[in-house]
Amino acid sequence: MPIGIIVHGGAGRFLDWEYPLAETACRDAVTRAQAVLTAGGSALDAVEAAVLVLEAAPILNAGHGATINADGEIELDALIQDGDTQAFGAVAGVRRIEHPVTLARWIMERTPHHFIAGVGAERFAQAQGMPLIDPASLLTERQIRGKHADTVGAVAVDAQGRMACAVSTGGVRGKMPGRVGDSPIAGAGGYADSRIGGASATGLGEGIMRALLCFRAVDLMTTFNVQSAADVAIRLFSERFQGDGGIIMLDKLGNIGISHNTEHMPVAWLAGEEIKSQVTQSNK
Ligand code: ASP
Repeated sequence: MPIGIIVHGGAGRFLDWEYPLAETACRDAVTRAQAVLTAGGSALDAVEAAVLVLEAAPILNAGHGATINADGEIELDALIQDGDTQAFGAVAGVRRIEHPVTLARWIMERTPHHFIAGVGAERFAQAQGMPLIDPASLLTERQIRGKHADTVGAVAVDAQGRMACAVSTGGVRGKMPGRVGDSPIAGAGGYADSRIGGASATGLGEGIMRALLCFRAVDLMTTFNVQSAADVAIRLFSERFQGDGGIIMLDKLGNIGISHNTEHMPVAWLAGEEIKSQVTQSNK
């Protein structure tokens, strides 16, 4: 089976100096995931590896560079989903975790639960040997001053036809402390079903949650091809849920779908053995 990986660095508007950095981070994430997949790694390994790169990139709103809430603090959310079993791991409102995507995976694989929030999630992380960090170390000048929301996400299919998705975010800037958006909610911020395809969304989470956008988009793939499913989902999101945002999608064969109604959404993906990327929509 062909392998496939697609990642995004958030829907919104990037400044001229920002988008080359965001695009490079996306390409680096695909490079990493491609190495994992060609070495026989699973789709779960690939999406985690990709999101680790994106979380480390200060230009993007996840991990380092995450945006701040109304109190000026970072609160991070993340999701990972196994498309074979639909099992997922999710974490919300953590402050002292450098890589929430890995914690989400540990929640999926090492606890009887799927979703753990706040202090309980941090305690579990520490008990499992993940160091708790000073949240200030994740703050960047840009996020203190800026007004961006550039959640990251990835969808992959491995050589055995297994699919997975992962999402990580600081949420929306100025959010009320404790607010949780779509990103860690399976079916909303991300969704993977190895029988059909996978998706990862970005944009105003309140609308994405109401739309259950990623579940809806993957479900649309039973009728439409992957690009049309992405376009229909975003059109519906704009018209019925008044949302600004975007979605990346992948089908079982590694074909991609990209759609957004914002000016920019940095995306990179694998086309055969070549890595492609864009910031404004040109794949159609
Ligand atoms: N969807 C994220 C949230 O609402 C934000 C984003 O995608 O930029 O938390």
